Order: sequence, then structure tokens, then C-alpha cells
Amino acid sequence: MENCIFCKIIKGQIPSDKVYEDEKVLAFKDINPEAPVHIVIIPKKHIVSLNDVDKEDLEILSHILLVVKNIASENGIAESGYRLVTNCGADGGQTVPHLHFHLLGGRNLVWPPG
Ligand code: AMP
Ligand code: ZN
Repeated sequence: MENCIFCKIIKGQIPSDKVYEDEKVLAFKDINPEAPVHIVIIPKKHIVSLNDVDKEDLEILSHILLVVKNIASENGIAESGYRLVTNCGADGGQTVPHLHFHLLGGRNLVWPPG
């Protein structure tokens, strides 16, 4: 947890381009965007991945799903459409071991992803 990049962003020890924050959630622009809009949404609680979610975390998860539409709207992609993705583990392509959701939009996204 001490070496977690996203926990450091939450604590302000690493700068980020914040787009949304409340008591449970932080959202910031991805440093290496894969689409015109690429926002990373994280719980402030350190949860490694979906594999580590407990029943007590359900409120945080549902809260994230609730704020996504506002973040999408504020960043101009609510109408055009977007994708919400979480990568889990090695095969899922997860590189940062702190649960996060990628909000991608601003272009036509191909399916299935690579
Ligand atoms: P994942 O590969 O699903 O674990 O996603 C991690 C994401 O975090 C990648 O898209 C990175 O570009 C992004 N990322 C890593 N470090 C930072 C940072 N300091 N600020 C913003 N985004 C970051
Ligand atoms: Zn963390």
C-alpha cells in the first residue's frame, strides 16, 4: 500500500490531473491516454483488484457506477458514448495493483478489445 502509485495520488504525493473527487472516489486523467477522453476512476480505499472486493466494498463500487455518468457528462462523452473497463490481473492487463476503472470515450471504440 505504501508503494502504491494510486494511493500516492490520493495522498497528493504524486500530482494528477483531477476531474472528480468525493469522500470515496477520485478520478483523474490517464497519463497515457488511449482515447481523446481517458479517465481513471479509483476508490480511495486500497483494494487490489476485483478479486479482492468484499461485501463491505459494495457501497463504494455502486457509488463509482453512479458517478460515472456525471464524469462522462462533464467531459462531453455522455451523449456520444463511452466504455468503462477494469483490468484484472496479468491476463487482464492490470499494471497498477489498486482497483481502477478506465472511462474511455471521444472516439469509436473497437470491440472486442485486443
Ligand atoms: P491498468 O493497466 O489497467 O492497470 O491501468 C493503469 C493505468 O494507469 C494506465 O492506463 C496508466 O497509463 C495509468 N497511470 C499510471 N500512472 C499514472 C499516473 N501517475 N497518473 C495518471 N495515470 C497513470
Ligand atoms: Zn493503493
